[in-house]
Amino acid sequence: MRTTDDSYLHKGLRKQLVETIRQKGITDERVLEAILNLPRHFFMDSAFDKIAYEDRAFPIGEGQTISQPYTVAYQTQLLELKPFEKVLEIGTGSAYQACVLAEMGVQVYTIERQKKLFDNNKQFAYLKKYPRLKFFYGDSYAGLPTYGPFDKVIVTAAAPYIPPKLVEQLKTGGLMVIPVGDGKVQRMLRLTKQADGSATEELYDNFSFVPMLGGKNS
Ligand code: SAH
Repeated sequence: MRTTDDSYLHKGLRKQLVETIRQKGITDERVLEAILNLPRHFFMDSAFDKIAYEDRAFPIGEGQTISQPYTVAYQTQLLELKPFEKVLEIGTGSAYQACVLAEMGVQVYTIERQKKLFDNNKQFAYLKKYPRLKFFYGDSYAGLPTYGPFDKVIVTAAAPYIPPKLVEQLKTGGLMVIPVGDGKVQRMLRLTKQADGSATEELYDNFSFVPMLGGKNS
């Protein structure tokens, strides 16, 4: 069951969450504003209503999670978004991260490999607020060749390696933010696509994501 009521209490908790994330080092005001605007408690079961604004991940079914707000903010900040850019997201999950991106005025294409999570979002009325946000069911290792190339790619599951097809689908000068590692902890990387097709890497902090799995799951 989902809640559709955004109360003053929720709004107050959201303000506190934004301050917590700011103190942890997020400085992009547009990212903070998107988090302030989005009713995160709508994106999970109403059982989590009272704790939805704690800075932590929560289960969303199928063994998956809605990412921690700090992590969402961290990845989004690294994307250095500009309005109207085309952004590919790997791992739709709850669609919270996708809506943070949509709030920032970019065109989002998001892929989920779990059919049940993909179907859940079809019935999620709040998402109608973002008509330019497009949902796909499939395996993200292949990306979305017919919709690319993309200005930015964000991977929200732990990738054991950098999927070459996703690098291919980046524009020259485009950025990909991806947690890489096959253990419990992954290193956040930011890749910049070069004119010769290769990508340079910058290393950021360690995080812990659910794994990016191959194939679709019906
Ligand atoms: N961005 C999400 C985080 C979800 S957790 C949010 O804001 O809630 C990561 C998601 O990636 C899970 O839903 C998982 O099913 C999905 N996933 C894992 N491997 C994938 C793949 N190869 N292709 C597409 N989605 C994948």
